[in-house]
Amino acid sequence: MIGSSVVVRTRSWIVLCLGGFLGCSAVGSPALAADCPGHPDALGTSRTLVVDPREHPRIGTMQYRETLPLKDHEVVLTFDDGPLPKYSYQVLKILADECIKATFFIVGQQAKANPEGVRKLVAAGHTVGTHSMSHPLTFDRMPNEKFEPEINGGIEWTSAAMTDPAQLAPFFRIPGLMRAEGVENYLISRGIQIWSADFPADDWRHVSSDRVYQLAIQRLEAKGKGILLLHDIQARTVAALPKIIRDLKARGYRIVHVVPATADRPATPTNPVEWLLHPPTETVPIARWPAVPHFVFAESRTLPAPSLADLNARTEHQPLLPRRTRGQMDIASTLPVPGRALFAIPEGSVEVLLSTTLSRRAATRLAMAAETPHAARGKVAKGKTAKPQARHTAHAAPAAPNHAAQIKSAPPRPTRVASLKKRA
Ligand SMILES: [Zn+2]
Repeated sequence: MIGSSVVVRTRSWIVLCLGGFLGCSAVGSPALAADCPGHPDALGTSRTLVVDPREHPRIGTMQYRETLPLKDHEVVLTFDDGPLPKYSYQVLKILADECIKATFFIVGQQAKANPEGVRKLVAAGHTVGTHSMSHPLTFDRMPNEKFEPEINGGIEWTSAAMTDPAQLAPFFRIPGLMRAEGVENYLISRGIQIWSADFPADDWRHVSSDRVYQLAIQRLEAKGKGILLLHDIQARTVAALPKIIRDLKARGYRIVHVVPATADRPATPTNPVEWLLHPPTETVPIARWPAVPHFVFAESRTLPAPSLADLNARTEHQPLLPRRTRGQMDIASTLPVPGRALFAIPEGSVEVLLSTTLSRRAATRLAMAAETPHAARGKVAKGKTAKPQARHTAHAAPAAPNHAAQIKSAPPRPTRVASLKKRA
C-alpha cells in the first residue's frame, strides 16, 4: 500500500492545491492545520503512525487490552460499512476540507456495488481496511467454514475495486464487534490486525446528529485519546461530523493517520506500554500498599517503655486499657536488657540443670498432694463458684450427677423464685 500511496496522496494533493498554490509544498507529508490549502482554520492531520499488525494484532480498548499508541489528545477517526456514495462522498468532502486522513472499513458487497467509492477513498489518501463481505452480526458463533468466506470475500472485493490491490491495509473490523477467539486466530494467522475501537458515538442507532456529536465528544473527553468508531453510511454522521471536527479543534485534539508497516516503511518505534490506553506512571506504585518497613529491633535497647502519662492519658478514664500499677510501669521502664552472659550455660552444668528440674518436679508433686483435699473442699464450699454452675444447669435438661450434688449444696435463692413468679 505504501509504495504507491505517496503517488496517490500526491495526486490528491495536486487536486487540493488547485485552490491555493502555497499549500503545494506539503505534498506527501501529513497535513497540518496551517498547510491545508484554502482552509486556514482546518484541523489537519498531525502525524502518520505506522503500525505492524503482527506485533500488536488486537487493538481497541472497547474489547482489548491494547490500543493504538496515541499520545494524550490524539484521535484516530474510523468509518465503517461503506462506501455508500450518497453519504460516503459527503464524509470524504468534510474530511478533505479539514485535511483529515481517516481509516475506512469496507463491506465487500458495498465495494462490489460501488468500486468507484473505494477508489475515491484511496485517492484521497485514506487508509482502507475491510469489514467482511455481507456484514453478518454472527461472527461470534460462526464456524470456520462460514466466517472465512466472509472475511476473504470482503478482502477480495475491496482489493478488486482498487487500482492497486496492494493498497489494501491488513486491517479488519469484525461486524458489530462480535469477536470470537476462532475468528481472531484466523485473522492473526494471516497477519491481519483486528481493530475494535476505544469509543463509539452510537451513530448507527436512531438518535439525532446532535446526540452523535455529544457522545463522540463526551466519550473522547472521558478517555483523553483514542479510536473513534463512526459510520459513513448514515445521514446523522454526515450532519454531526463537521461539528465534531470543529469541537476537536477547539479542545486541542489532534488527528493521527494510521497506516500499516511494509518492507518500505517500518513501524513507528514505540514502547510496549504506549499500547495501553493509560500506561502506568511513576505515581502508581505509591498508590499500592507500602512495603513492610525493616524494623531494627536490636536498636530498641535505647528506647524507654512509654508510660500512660507519656500518652497524655488519665488512667481513670481508660477502663478498657489493661491497668497496670505505677510500680509495674516503673519496673517496665527501668528494666535493663539482659546481658548475653546471663543465658550462657557453663560447662558441666547439664547435671546441675537436670537435678534442678527433677527436684522441682518432686516439689510440685508434693505440693499438689498437700493441696488437693483443701482445693476440693474450697470448690464446693465457695458459693461464688457454685452459683453460675447452678444457673447453667437449671436451663439444661439432664444434669450431670456431680452438678446435681453441687445444686443441692448451694444456698436457696429467693430472688430467683420471685423472678419466676413475675414471668408467670
Ligand atoms: Zn459495521
